[in-house]
Amino acid sequence: MDPHRRVFRDGAVLIDGGVISQVGRTGDVKPQRRAEFEIDAKGKVVLPGLIDTHVHLAQALIRGSADDTALIDWLQKFVWPLQGNFDAEDGKVSAQLCMVEMIKSGTTTFLESLLHSRYGFDGIAESVGRAGMRGFLAKTVMGLPGYGSEKSIMHPGMIEDGETCLREVESHFKRWNGKSDDRIRVWYGARSLGGCTPQLYTQMAEGAKRLATGVTMHLSEVQEDVRYTKKEFGKMPAEFMDQVGLTGPNVVFAHGVWLTETEWKILARKGANVAHCPSSNMKLSSGIAKVPEMMQTGVNVGIGCDGGPSNNSYDMIREMKTASLLQKVRTMDPLALSAETVLEMATLNGAKALGLQDQIGSLQAGKKADLIVVSMQKPHLTPAFNSVSHLVYAAEGSDVETTIIDGKIIMENRVVKTLDEEKIIHDANEHATKLLQRAEIDITPKWPMEK
Ligand SMILES: [Zn+2]
Repeated sequence: MDPHRRVFRDGAVLIDGGVISQVGRTGDVKPQRRAEFEIDAKGKVVLPGLIDTHVHLAQALIRGSADDTALIDWLQKFVWPLQGNFDAEDGKVSAQLCMVEMIKSGTTTFLESLLHSRYGFDGIAESVGRAGMRGFLAKTVMGLPGYGSEKSIMHPGMIEDGETCLREVESHFKRWNGKSDDRIRVWYGARSLGGCTPQLYTQMAEGAKRLATGVTMHLSEVQEDVRYTKKEFGKMPAEFMDQVGLTGPNVVFAHGVWLTETEWKILARKGANVAHCPSSNMKLSSGIAKVPEMMQTGVNVGIGCDGGPSNNSYDMIREMKTASLLQKVRTMDPLALSAETVLEMATLNGAKALGLQDQIGSLQAGKKADLIVVSMQKPHLTPAFNSVSHLVYAAEGSDVETTIIDGKIIMENRVVKTLDEEKIIHDANEHATKLLQRAEIDITPKWPMEK
């Protein structure tokens, strides 16, 4: 993954500090001094770290808690009551669990889209710093406790006030943005349509401009989004977002399932990005985003795993395959979304969505050393003639052996060095059990449970 998409059969990457200094044929890559460490990647593939453009850190703890239901019921009956009972310790454990999973499946950068204050922003930001990941953290901004035309359906524990949210984004920004060697960024996390007044959206657009930061939001995930803006404002969702000033290159819209051609043109012209979340859209029966058409119109589209109750995995390698297959079956055209395009979406397009196209997303001298090493010496990856095809169609997250972020080895031979995986799994089980009790939600198999 470089500007010319060159594939080296016998290649090497030289890292100096946090930056890639040389990429090329092994014989041509010459360190100026003796290397501090060397990784033998024979029989393996080295590629840029994957970029997840739509993640909910706080939903790892509620994985599998809301299956076989559609979005608004899913939110109202399961996700909001559970998240409305979170405390800062739950938030931290969930974020750490999510990050261990991401690191172990090759994700190096992520955009977390909605952090409620009760999840404990400081604990989560501090965990991102410690984990060594590149994390974009969007603090929730909301003013109305609803979704679309459904009023007052939000769990009391999830309700926040608009002015307070805006103030908190600013204070988190001052405290955390650019910290941990610039690996942490603070964004605005706008609630979905029906959760904010038009004025609140405009305030976020102005705030993001002033702070030179980004805004992310779920948009046109379900048909209700379209019904709502048409009824309230006589506009399509993206037309409405354009009117409130939220369609610039610093904006990432998650889903975009029901966006129309007119809306793609607005996003393409203004530079707003889309995070495509195929597994979530399939599982919640939201619909199928017209990704190839959107991209042909000029919209930059990345990939997102979404969350623990909607996917229910944070494995970007698995998500790449789903993204490709979903478009093939929708269009009945096997060329609709090729392995090559999907890999670009998970790397370069993700980088562009986050405004980091000059820093990450490809293996190039001068870019940050965020890269992963994937083993190809596995039965399910043999024979290995076309590594791009294997990465998208045959590999799984657990084939990632080594994860390097900012030049630091975060995982080596599947052992995460920055976080205590065993303790996190233990703590997550404990916190999840208590959380279910507090929220009075029962997740047992539908089949008879033998004691
Ligand atoms: Zn989401």
